[in-house]
Amino acid sequence: MNPRVLAYKILRDRKEAAEEAARCNLERMLSDPEFARLYSECRKLAFEKERLGSLNQDTGSLESKYSELCARREQRMKELGFSSEDLRPKYRCPVCGDTGVTDSGDCRCLTELIYRLIREDADLPGNGMTPEELLRADAAADKEHSALYKLLTRYADSFPEVKKIYMLTGAVGVGKSFAAGAVSAALMRKGYSVLFLGANKLNDMFLKYHLAELQSKPEIFRPLFEADLLVIDDLGAETLLNNVTVNYLYILLTERVAPVIITTNLGEKELRNRYTDRIFSRLMDADNAKVLKIGGRDLRLQKNKS
Ligand SMILES: [Zn+2]
Repeated sequence: MNPRVLAYKILRDRKEAAEEAARCNLERMLSDPEFARLYSECRKLAFEKERLGSLNQDTGSLESKYSELCARREQRMKELGFSSEDLRPKYRCPVCGDTGVTDSGDCRCLTELIYRLIREDADLPGNGMTPEELLRADAAADKEHSALYKLLTRYADSFPEVKKIYMLTGAVGVGKSFAAGAVSAALMRKGYSVLFLGANKLNDMFLKYHLAELQSKPEIFRPLFEADLLVIDDLGAETLLNNVTVNYLYILLTERVAPVIITTNLGEKELRNRYTDRIFSRLMDADNAKVLKIGGRDLRLQKNKS
């Protein structure tokens, strides 16, 4: 199922569950005769107030009676172990009430859910901590990692006025994905949408796009172009597919306007061999791209040479 359709379905289920829970609470309260009586009298009075109000008649005499009944209803509710909060559906997203829609379009909860579904796993690397928090924590105990997290904090602060492509390179285990996850966490907290994808997953999307019927193609690529930040994690880990991987990666890096962060173990020579000159020159283009080489314990930060 298309992630957007699935996300709407999940939100609809959440919304219904929240409303059902509130309805159940009301039913349980109404099974108490005293509460049921007060509840029905309050409703009758509320209608009556409304009716008189619409006829521009004085509702003064009803107001105090109404407030008194409401107070008694609340009191009875408490005695039964409930509060008026239990009558309100507890939507997971208070912004859209689990509809996924706001006046300005898609709610952030919908976008995040779609990206999560595309990613097929729940948590980003980095434990949800931002580079700034990592700096304060012991995670940045060594000088080199401090420098890296400072740089990434500046990146998050300047976003989206950053280089279009940011490459974090270095050997396995130096913390590239962790660093990319931390930047993602910082941006998501600022309200940006981040699509964090393993290169394998991205490659699957390329293949799906390649094989899809013309009319369903745009929906497959939509998140890749719409996300405020796209992270391609572990470029080089995917299987190279003829006419797919390199072609669509080139299209993505050329046509996507917003920033991309790429992490990779591959060195420059391997990148050029694997992805051809045209992609390599995009990745190394000093006007648009920045390469951060992360060392092991001797983590060094080098500016792009070309
Ligand atoms: Zn929402």
